[in-house]
Amino acid sequence: MATHAKPLPRVTIYATGGTIAGGSTSNTDLLFYTAGSVGIDTLLDAVPEAKQYASITGEQLLNVGSHEIRSSDLLDLSKRVNQQFAENLSDGVVITHGTDTLEETAFFLDLTVSHPQPLVVVGAMRPASAISADGPLNLLQGVSLAASSKGRGRGTMIVLNDRIQSAFYTSKTHANTLDTFRAVEQGSLGFFLNAKPLFYFEPAHVSNKPHFDISNITSLPRVDILYSHQDASSDLLELAIERGAKGVVIAASGGGWASPALEAAAEDLTTEGFPVVFATRTGNGFSIKQAKFGTGAGLINAQKARIILMLALASGYDQQQISACFNTG
Ligand code: ASP
Repeated sequence: MATHAKPLPRVTIYATGGTIAGGSTSNTDLLFYTAGSVGIDTLLDAVPEAKQYASITGEQLLNVGSHEIRSSDLLDLSKRVNQQFAENLSDGVVITHGTDTLEETAFFLDLTVSHPQPLVVVGAMRPASAISADGPLNLLQGVSLAASSKGRGRGTMIVLNDRIQSAFYTSKTHANTLDTFRAVEQGSLGFFLNAKPLFYFEPAHVSNKPHFDISNITSLPRVDILYSHQDASSDLLELAIERGAKGVVIAASGGGWASPALEAAAEDLTTEGFPVVFATRTGNGFSIKQAKFGTGAGLINAQKARIILMLALASGYDQQQISACFNTG
């Protein structure tokens, strides 16, 4: 009797640009290349081996540096991924993305995609044109992970530099080096042997991770981040609100402190019911705040706290529900 080979898992790649798709006329240029200059077909041509792991469909959604990604792009991306999984169109999804704001997109997806299939965000620190470009191997490993049943039920994952990281806690921690994506306290989920994913543990859940259903959300409100420092005035905070911010995140010092002017302004705003969230600017640790000043972001950094606040406001949450989103203790 003839035996039939099992069909390969179906992996969809959404390409958005970044250094992984970056190009320069010099192969030693790691600084002034153009991010988002080659398309998905060129990225895939660099790793024909990816076809051994999956039947791949690629779609070019954007081709930009990730500092250009807008909140409307996040909504669009998340809705596409949810649709792929809900309608059983893909067994896994890979998103190629610039590393500068990769953690924001990955975090957004982690909070808004509600399916167990593997979802992997891949970037690179060296452009496609560079000596020792890291993009091709990162992409190969990302595809292999998206095609693997071991990647199921693990939330959104980030793949760079041979490591598998949880999107919830991971951040870009170095502007230049390959080992930039880290969750300093929480560690990584696993790594790769060649392109084979190896996880340290079975799937686990982030404590008290909020989930948002975005199926009826068509836009996200403006939320600005203000950086606290010695002598910081409240001028920029007032201007942000005048210009349309519906919530603000303060990148506060230490465990949630801001300058006297910012704290006084935050207290007034909180009394009026305007949402103010205090995240720690230290990069690690827990930010806590007395309720009269606003909400402490707990373990969430400022750029991720902004994502939560946008989603919470778009979902119509009140102050208490907003605070509950940051209860990571
Ligand atoms: N500037 C690039 C970007 O975020 C950096 C990178 O992808 O590594 O698009």
